Amino acid sequence: MRRREFLKIAAASLAGGGVIPQSDRALGMDTNITRADFLNGAPAKLVQADWDGYGGVGDYSSANGNTYAVMTAGHGIRDALYKGELKGAQPTGETFDCVVVGGGISGLAAAHLYTEKTSRSKRCLVLEDHPIFGGEARRNEFLVDGHRLIANQGSSMFFPSMPLSLTQKFYESIGFDGKPFEYQQWGGGKPELKLTTVPYAWGGPNAGMFFGARFGHPEGLWLIDPWGKNLAGAPLPEHIKQQLLQARKGNPSFVPPKTDGDEVARALDKMSLEEHLMQRDGLSREFIREYMPTAADGAGSSADEISAYASYAPEVLFPWNNAAGEQTFPGGNTGIARLIVKAMIPQALPGPSTLSGMCADTVDFPKLDQQGQPVRIRLGATVADVRHEGDGVDVSYAVEGLLYTVHARSVVMSGGWTTWRTIPDLPESYRIAYQQFYRMPCIVMNVALRNWRFLAKMGITECQWFEGLSNSFAVRKIATFGGVPPTIRPDDPTVVRIKISFTEPGVPLAQQAARGRMRMMSTSYAEYERMIREQFTLMFARSGFNARRDIAGIILNRWGHAYLCAQPGFFFGSEGKAAPREIIRRAPFGKIAFANSDLSGIMDHRASIAESNRAVDQLLS
Ligand SMILES: Cc1cc2nc3c(=O)[nH]c(=O)nc-3n(C[C@H](O)[C@H](O)[C@H](O)COP(=O)(O)OP(=O)(O)OC[C@H]3O[C@@H](n4cnc5c(N)ncnc54)[C@H](O)[C@@H]3O)c2cc1C
Repeated sequence: MRRREFLKIAAASLAGGGVIPQSDRALGMDTNITRADFLNGAPAKLVQADWDGYGGVGDYSSANGNTYAVMTAGHGIRDALYKGELKGAQPTGETFDCVVVGGGISGLAAAHLYTEKTSRSKRCLVLEDHPIFGGEARRNEFLVDGHRLIANQGSSMFFPSMPLSLTQKFYESIGFDGKPFEYQQWGGGKPELKLTTVPYAWGGPNAGMFFGARFGHPEGLWLIDPWGKNLAGAPLPEHIKQQLLQARKGNPSFVPPKTDGDEVARALDKMSLEEHLMQRDGLSREFIREYMPTAADGAGSSADEISAYASYAPEVLFPWNNAAGEQTFPGGNTGIARLIVKAMIPQALPGPSTLSGMCADTVDFPKLDQQGQPVRIRLGATVADVRHEGDGVDVSYAVEGLLYTVHARSVVMSGGWTTWRTIPDLPESYRIAYQQFYRMPCIVMNVALRNWRFLAKMGITECQWFEGLSNSFAVRKIATFGGVPPTIRPDDPTVVRIKISFTEPGVPLAQQAARGRMRMMSTSYAEYERMIREQFTLMFARSGFNARRDIAGIILNRWGHAYLCAQPGFFFGSEGKAAPREIIRRAPFGKIAFANSDLSGIMDHRASIAESNRAVDQLLS
């Protein structure tokens, strides 16, 4: 069913035959905003409409997060549904020098590097299960009152890199200088409010901290500029305030690791982040679990299950120009994915070769997969089976339930969590290693607001809270290319990004991940919509927010296997055993090499590029 059609059904089903509860009306659950509604209330197993919801407009409108179609096709691999069918897979008759499984930044980088390193003389095919390339680096687009708004679905920031670093050379090879962007200037009234360039709250002077029923304030209490005020006025016990301040400050006397594998790094990898924070900053376990839900935010897990080294690894592995600050394309690292595609297949993004051109362009989808070009990208293709056959590898993939096989002289597996299930004769050592890669789910909800006067009225541009759905958001100023207006004002529409994690401190990682996925898979779009409307109403109604009037659209991006969470021992091994990542990186299995950011133990597009570079070199040597 097309999305617009189920919008109409939604209103009827919501009304239960015509009567919409007053409370739902007030929340705007019946408004004709840019969202899809749902067919059922709280189903145990969601149907497509409950799962996907509204996808926005533009190139990414049918690719918000792991869509229902991708999720069910992917679970077909897990449940071995394709096994009996493989014999009937139709050979396409094609042979490629390299087939890349997965079209995220890692898969795109592998294809680009492979063709560049072979002087564009070889043929490469990328197979990606979503309706568009990019993986975690995709974007959402809204049209609100004539404004086109763009926000990232997953990966958002890049980090201006050091000259001559692998990342910088890679950027340059795709026509990107990697330099900091110009961002919107303040265009509102006085006083000027400070805004970040990233969608994360950083606790600046225009931050707000909200306390609700959990702190004895069911009607809500706001503390503005909590950090500037050293939390004075926060309804918190003194020992909690002290720990919050300590956690923010960190411990400057702690000497962080300098190289990947030095003594400090190895010591950190032996303990959890929670233990490290207790030792380094003198925080209590209870405090970390209650008040630091985002301590291990880059891994989507609780701090007690992740290696302490994971917090330091990005800086150690990829030193960057910190003074320039984190940078964000209007649609996050979608910009990098699009630049790679433009470098490989210019005709698929035919606009001008400028940042603006790349950002505003529309993908010419048929051009992605044309005979004769060095790189082809085939979308909507779920790879189900990869096996050595004859002089190379047969790769079988499903498109809308039908199986096809292509032949490859070599393969890069960039899909991450599906890898070990798709190679039937993968040696036991690789299989066991891959089973130690735990991926946590998360949801990125993008909420389009018609304006953000209700925040400006309070003097804030970002906020943090400790109860209810999620825990923070920030209005960000956008890089000014691709049709982005030069100024930002509270009167204009914006998109705020709400991240929903599934952390459960004290629960073992595998269980935490599985339970999180179950929760994500059984909660409908409508339930999330209701939760965010209630949360915003509780927090902002008194400053003029009206959910019915002010929310212009909501897109839910569900990521079932969003983050690798590297458990203690992941990086350097434990009990005398090799680290899981090392076993997989050490050598290809026959003609199959392995990439994806998870092999570095961190979720970072620089890791995606580095791992692909290694995998391609292994295949070409
Ligand atoms: C919420 C969130 C925020 C993030 N923010 C940042 C950030 O700000 N900066 C940063 O650098 N990094 C960030 N990351 C990390 C991000 O994951 C990496 O930067 C990078 O985008 C990962 O690329 P990848 O190709 O390695 O993996 P992915 O992006 O996961 O790409 C793998 C692709 O392969 C596909 N695939 C898997 N199995 C198959 C199969 N069998 N057949 C066909 N296709 C398959 C997947 O669907 C996916 O599209 C973030 C991650 C998340 C989840």
